[in-house]
Amino acid sequence: MLDFSILSESNKQYCTMHMLTLSTTVALLLTGAAAFAPAPHYCKQIRTVSMYKMAKDENLTEEERTEAIENALKGMTNFSNKYLANTGTKYCTDKSIPAVVIKGLAEHKVTLGAPLCPCRYYDDKEKEAKDGYWNCPCVPMRERHECHCMLFLTEDNGFAGDETNISLDEVKDLSNAGFS
Ligand code: SF4
Repeated sequence: MLDFSILSESNKQYCTMHMLTLSTTVALLLTGAAAFAPAPHYCKQIRTVSMYKMAKDENLTEEERTEAIENALKGMTNFSNKYLANTGTKYCTDKSIPAVVIKGLAEHKVTLGAPLCPCRYYDDKEKEAKDGYWNCPCVPMRERHECHCMLFLTEDNGFAGDETNISLDEVKDLSNAGFS
């Protein structure tokens, strides 16, 4: 079990949210994310949505959707490993955290066409995905290495482990199993 005592109040709130959703899916993670402030107004010129092909799932069959999720899981796992290496950040000692976040990003990639951050509450997800501020890697991460999902941890973070790689199988297994 992770020791949350070393965290700031806001991070404790975040981790408490995680602990409450240990055995649930990312959908519940999203529901529990109301502790975060809504996305602010931001620079329109900073957009990442164009980096991602819009691929909404509304016209997909169940089989096609399953395949799309599988492909998105692979894509977001690869992205995450590469971005971690590029930024010198680390995964959490509890790899179920990055696993659940990566799964949430992959599901948003399929449902919204962009990897909208899965750890926030949005009034209008489609609008947020189009605006791009919270598409992963979000602006706070790109500008200040701040990842409130704890997917990319700087070395001074008390939860940062030594792991710099997560496999697709780990993402699948750990995101289904929940947090340890
Ligand atoms: Fe969410 Fe930003 Fe972290 Fe990506 S980098 S998981 S968008 S907080």
